[in-house]
Amino acid sequence: MERAEREKAAGLSFPEEVASRLGGETIKLCYQCGTCASSCPVAKITPNFNPRELIKLSLLGERDEVISGDAIWLCCSCYNCQERCPQKVEIAEVIYALRNIAFEEGRIPPIYSEFASALLRDGRIIKVSKFVEKKRSTLGLPPLKPTGVEALTRILSATGFNKLYERRERK
Ligand code: SF4
Ligand code: SF4
Repeated sequence: MERAEREKAAGLSFPEEVASRLGGETIKLCYQCGTCASSCPVAKITPNFNPRELIKLSLLGERDEVISGDAIWLCCSCYNCQERCPQKVEIAEVIYALRNIAFEEGRIPPIYSEFASALLRDGRIIKVSKFVEKKRSTLGLPPLKPTGVEALTRILSATGFNKLYERRERK
């Protein structure tokens, strides 16, 4: 049984489930002041993302809406909100906890799945094009070093990332 299933079986409410996760511990401290939303560069450019709203929905137990929606993937992890939250809610970390729950349930946007696949295969999430390599040399920059994909694979393996990813791909 996977962790999210165990948590559901244990009868945890969604806020408790998030708070039990690494990074999610502070979610219940939020008192909805909105400082995070007014500090967020992503919220400024799209109505589809608002960290205060995301925390509110989570606290209200709207698990499916939060986990299956796009919003949790829109945060750019700038930490502006976290620096300013008067309640010291670790908002960016809470969003990582939400993403981890979504990832474990296979609810991951295709682009992130491609990033994960490229990371496991090449050690980089984006392939370096010939154009970029050429541009580097015209700017006097040295060629990019090999990524050390074997060391990275060992780290990803030790954290369980590759197994989790493989399970997700089979779903
Ligand atoms: S700034 Fe902190 S307390 Fe205020 S709404 Fe955002 S998370 Fe909640
Ligand atoms: S860390 Fe995410 S939620 Fe917080 S301000 Fe930056 S983009 Fe917005």
